[in-house]
Amino acid sequence: MATIFTKIINGEIPCHKIAENESCFAFLDINPLAIGHTLVVPKAEVDYIFALNDDTLKELTLFAKSIALAVEKAVPCQRIGVAVIGLEVPHTHIHLVPINNVSDINFARPKLKLTNEELAETAAAIRACL
Ligand code: 5GP
Repeated sequence: MATIFTKIINGEIPCHKIAENESCFAFLDINPLAIGHTLVVPKAEVDYIFALNDDTLKELTLFAKSIALAVEKAVPCQRIGVAVIGLEVPHTHIHLVPINNVSDINFARPKLKLTNEELAETAAAIRACL
């Protein structure tokens, strides 16, 4: 069965898309730790990041870099924190989280409750910085 992220990539489930290329896709996390919290995923449905083949891992990393630089421009923050957890969705994803201190990327913290409009505005602001 397709993962929820494959359904998002295929447009079967809506998302606030940031960008895509031939092998990767980026969209806002629906339950963000911070405004601008973005997920970067390979289109290949591989659960564990270190099970990706080297070419895909390289493409994913470089794609994540380009997205992170845009998020950093769009969202006031000290830098973009990077995390790979993967315990919830079995489809490799890199979390890009705008942070000002270490607690901003504490996944045990309650998530923000943002409206669809707020997410849409943030996604548009990030896209404008690509
Ligand atoms: P992890 O697997 O790294 O623990 O977390 C999965 C992440 O995917 C969570 O931060 C969660 O909010 C996000 N997520 C789960 N389902 C969806 C969804 O349907 N849409 C979006 N945009 N994000 C999701």
